[in-house]
Amino acid sequence: SKITNSILYLDNVSVSFDGFRALNALSFVIEPGELRAIIGPNGAGKTTMMDIITGKTRPDQGEVYFDGAIDLTRKDEAEIAQLGIGRKFQKPTVFESHTIWDNLELALNRKRGVFSTLFYRLTAEDKARIEHILETVRLTARKNDYAANLSHGQKQWLEIGMLLAQEPKLLLVDEPVAGMTDAETSETALLLKDIAKTRSVVVVEHDMGFIRDLGVKVTCLAEGSVLAEGSIDFVSNDPKVIENYLGR
Ligand code: ADP
Repeated sequence: SKITNSILYLDNVSVSFDGFRALNALSFVIEPGELRAIIGPNGAGKTTMMDIITGKTRPDQGEVYFDGAIDLTRKDEAEIAQLGIGRKFQKPTVFESHTIWDNLELALNRKRGVFSTLFYRLTAEDKARIEHILETVRLTARKNDYAANLSHGQKQWLEIGMLLAQEPKLLLVDEPVAGMTDAETSETALLLKDIAKTRSVVVVEHDMGFIRDLGVKVTCLAEGSVLAEGSIDFVSNDPKVIENYLGR
């Protein structure tokens, strides 16, 4: 039943690098429309987990299922992206010398395999989609401004918007609030909740205030496995979580 209903199902995934087990029989399930927070100490395997989901790294053991029964385990990165998994890396990579609008237009065209705005005219529907993304990522008022003029936090939002242009069913977001102001951090929690109204989102973060603000189910990883899973109150009171992560 996990395989047929979930957006993501990691089943007993292990991977080693030079004999070191980065993931150790890792299993968890993400439901459609769920926003899930992943926490855990450095070296817990959070990045490796993202690499496995996106096909950058192959598991030695176990399977990864997406959107029901789609087996990602032996698919490559491009195929997995095409199936509807978007990944936001920590460092934003927006086109600074382009406007916010043009960045989103480029992202929309990229999905179509069009790499220049010269060759494709936006339809009314495309324009409406870009406007909707601008609203979602809180950048409507800045749409004609150059991306270079955005704050670090706003660049993170723009890059999330560029990923939304690809219409992923699952969005993976790596440490979005690192370096953000407190106001941007609070807004990011609301923004991710808005996004999760129409798709699933997995967010890896260290900022416990932000995790608390999100108020969603948390998975704490340590040594490549799930240490605890549940509400932030449940997870942060778990003695194993305190010993391995919060108490450090
Ligand atoms: P986290 O993101 O939770 O900090 P990582 O997934 O980056 O954890 O790392 C888990 C462990 O696997 C770390 O000890 C790291 O050094 C090791 N590791 C990750 N990727 C590689 C790799 N490509 N080659 C060798 N070791 C790696």
